[in-house]
Amino acid sequence: MTKIAIAIHGGAGTLVKGMMTPEKETAYRQALQKALDAGYKILENGASSMDAVEKAVQELENSHLFNAGKGSVFTATETHEMDASIMEGKNLKAGAVSLITGIANPVSLARDVMEKTEHVFLAGNGAMEFAKEVGYEIENSDYFYDEFRHNQWLEIKGTDSFQLDHSKNTSTPLSTRKDSKFGTVGAVALDENGNIAAATSTGGMTNKKYGRVGDSPMIGAGNYANNETCAVSCTGSGEYFIRGVVAYDVSCLMEHKGLSLEEATKEVIQNRIIKIGGDGGLIAIDIKGNISLEFNTEGMYRGSKNNEGLDLVEIYK
Ligand code: ASP
Repeated sequence: MTKIAIAIHGGAGTLVKGMMTPEKETAYRQALQKALDAGYKILENGASSMDAVEKAVQELENSHLFNAGKGSVFTATETHEMDASIMEGKNLKAGAVSLITGIANPVSLARDVMEKTEHVFLAGNGAMEFAKEVGYEIENSDYFYDEFRHNQWLEIKGTDSFQLDHSKNTSTPLSTRKDSKFGTVGAVALDENGNIAAATSTGGMTNKKYGRVGDSPMIGAGNYANNETCAVSCTGSGEYFIRGVVAYDVSCLMEHKGLSLEEATKEVIQNRIIKIGGDGGLIAIDIKGNISLEFNTEGMYRGSKNNEGLDLVEIYK
């Protein structure tokens, strides 16, 4: 039997058991399962890993629970600026967008950049111009409004603080909390033709300004895929993940040091990124269908499924 497999994440962070209401936890689990199943179904029907990761990420972007697409956090000017990227392991083709607004599914725009332009990365006004040219509807801000996320923003509005999605409910001011949740979403998959792909999408950080861009749209930092090694999607403190070139570092450890997927992801997340002060996690897959879901935070919204009986949605350690 040819192996097919998919893994997804909805962000890592301080996800402590008992801190969430049972209803909220159920909602998260259901949303993760829905995205996992949608991506897996694409693979089951014989379509590509690119189609599968795009579909899974679209599902997560369509949920207000995650900091991507619909659930994106607010910037310092009360807008939404989203970043996304996608990469195909077969030929190292990639597409990425950054600082876009009003797009319901940034992951699809990233794929269009890859497939419909000569470029890899479009940002800001230019990316929006391209989106309109290829027929994207521009949603108004109501589509992205979420009361919880708006309150998060109100708490630090007008300050120099920025915040990685939501924190646990403590009396510590948001700006000084180390514990936080990174709500970025992502997917990696292996299709029946032995090709792997990765996609990542995010609203970035609450109250971000100056056109701040994180690791998620950066090929090699927050997202990477190469059939020779692995496909990786990251979530965490973007500044550190950029400096650690995390996704590509996992690939390099496999390619140049002969490490297994498991060893490489452990080394990067439990050692290298911690050394420079970064927290978060990643999901990764190789062409044998091995999956690694590695994080150095309390938890990570995650799911994995294959045609050998694996079908798992998890939140905590
Ligand atoms: N990595 C993302 C960023 O820095 C945040 C996240 O993972 O939620 O933009």
